[in-house]
Amino acid sequence: MKDATAALYIVATPIGNLADISARAIEVLSSVDLIAAEDTRHSKFLLQHYAISTATISLHEHNEQQRSEMLLSRIMQGESIALISDAGTPLISDPGFRLVTMAREQAIKVIPIPGACAVITALSASGLSAERFAFEGFLPPKATARRQVLERLQHETRTLIFYESPKRIVASLQDMLLVFGGERRACLARELTKMFETLITLPLVELVEVVSNDPNQQKGEIVLLIEGQAKVADSDEMEVERVLQILLAEMPLKQAATLAASILGMKKNKAYDIALKLQQK
Ligand code: SAM
Repeated sequence: MKDATAALYIVATPIGNLADISARAIEVLSSVDLIAAEDTRHSKFLLQHYAISTATISLHEHNEQQRSEMLLSRIMQGESIALISDAGTPLISDPGFRLVTMAREQAIKVIPIPGACAVITALSASGLSAERFAFEGFLPPKATARRQVLERLQHETRTLIFYESPKRIVASLQDMLLVFGGERRACLARELTKMFETLITLPLVELVEVVSNDPNQQKGEIVLLIEGQAKVADSDEMEVERVLQILLAEMPLKQAATLAASILGMKKNKAYDIALKLQQK
């Protein structure tokens, strides 16, 4: 196999099923000079499975700065290095951001080798809108901070995606029920690509019940997806205009938009845009 060009390769690996790796990823991992892995013992299993004998070195959140300097100096001397994480795409709730940033600052070529990622895998089969979505990573473990994050996202219209620990899945779902209400659809995507793969999409009130009453649904690796807040429909837009016109006759634009947004449960900037258009008519 020909040697890989001197560069930093960001290589996605499987999120469960070992077959979910690209031919190009195997070729790169076999031909680079060194593989930087989040946990070398964990990755050994994958590398052995594909008979990849490339040397490995650890790169995790506690040694990323100092390891990155060493790895980049090796690339500058002509070596090729691949970064992998324990599962899926590096940097997605995984180490590598400092390494990539430093590589780019030093004009080192960074080459992505795409593949599995739990966010995208879950979204593709959840039945929730994949047109626009926001990945929020892990929610804070403490209840107060978690609720604050959820409250900030209450009016988000894009599909929301979280990674969640099985230890906190019930508590998080209960908080989501409080903040988003029972009617919003949500999807629990568990153990993707593995033996006990499960995707359940239900209104939040029903999902909380199913998960709380079944300890099996509280196990393994979990992605949680929540439908975004419904957008103002065209028919509702006429109502927004009607309310804004009344308010605009009585008060300045900014105040009218703020009041309309809170009366109609919509985003302030959306109400502001409509108010602005009305004033310009
Ligand atoms: N870099 C990874 C990726 O591309 O998806 C994510 C790494 S993050 C440290 C690990 C979290 O991803 C898990 O706690 C879980 O929330 C989610 N995850 C990873 N593999 C999964 C799977 N097979 N099924 C469901 N969720 C998974």
